[in-house]
Amino acid sequence: MTTIFSKIAAGDIPADIVFQDDRVTAFKDINPIAPIHILIIPNKEIPTVDDVTEADEQTLGHMFVVARKIARDLGIAESGYRLLVNCRDDAGQEVYHLHMHLLGGRSLGPMLAHRD
Ligand code: AMP
Repeated sequence: MTTIFSKIAAGDIPADIVFQDDRVTAFKDINPIAPIHILIIPNKEIPTVDDVTEADEQTLGHMFVVARKIARDLGIAESGYRLLVNCRDDAGQEVYHLHMHLLGGRSLGPMLAHRD
């Protein structure tokens, strides 16, 4: 199923793209929850982390390299940032095209809002 993120990667709908190459696309989240909130996606459609295979290892590793580059470019490498990937319902995944959130620009607080 083609998602809105696949269309962004293909250039079919607009987004504020900060980085793109043959494997990944990174763009600003439309509803940011931090001063810096970037989404990094594989150009290939992978719905969730649960759909990842060994064939995806290089692309997924590349997402971390791109995250590091963007963090440095945006000046938050030293202050720190959070990388987050939601998988399916309990994590609140909304868009079923695997994506890594890059969050920073302020102290992000504890990792989870609620504790058991
Ligand atoms: P998740 O809950 O992990 O699936 O996160 C989905 C994220 O995608 C949310 O933070 C949304 O604000 C963001 N989002 C949804 N549609 C767009 C879009 N067209 N452009 C940029 N970000 C989007």
